[in-house]
Amino acid sequence: MSQKDFVCPKCEGSTHFHGFYERKLKFADSVIVTTIARVKCTFCNATHAVLPDFISPRKHYSAAEVEDVIVDKENGTPDEHIDSSASVSTIKRWLKAFNSKAPNILGALQSILFSLYGVIASAISISTLSWLSRIKDIINQFPDIECSNMILSKTNLWILSHFQDIYI
Ligand SMILES: [Zn+2]
Repeated sequence: MSQKDFVCPKCEGSTHFHGFYERKLKFADSVIVTTIARVKCTFCNATHAVLPDFISPRKHYSAAEVEDVIVDKENGTPDEHIDSSASVSTIKRWLKAFNSKAPNILGALQSILFSLYGVIASAISISTLSWLSRIKDIINQFPDIECSNMILSKTNLWILSHFQDIYI
């Protein structure tokens, strides 16, 4: 497995590791600091956070808050009625970003699952499921991580731990 499994979302070029940066996330009443890996496209030179950067770059919400919004949306709640501390425009941005990044996240998880465990995640061919359901289908095939029940947090941890295994 190499970082080339992460495809540039802009041009679909291969990427290489481009360092880590620290990120503060607001979660309920506390602030946590997380480390995020970056990759750089070898073709167009764009840099991308390996962790889903549907965590807004300006407002520092946690993946858990974003996930709650996505679940509400997939349950059919109109954007204006989703219960969140984020504004409606922020919610709309998260949903749009999630939908555009979900295929790459799904592909990354599929690669990790295959390279670590030799498991071919066939569930992703079920294209009628929502993106979150498809990500959940794959993440549930990974060994359990005790620290989180959230799908996106678990996804983040797997992607990040995978990169740390390679580079540290
Ligand atoms: Zn590119």
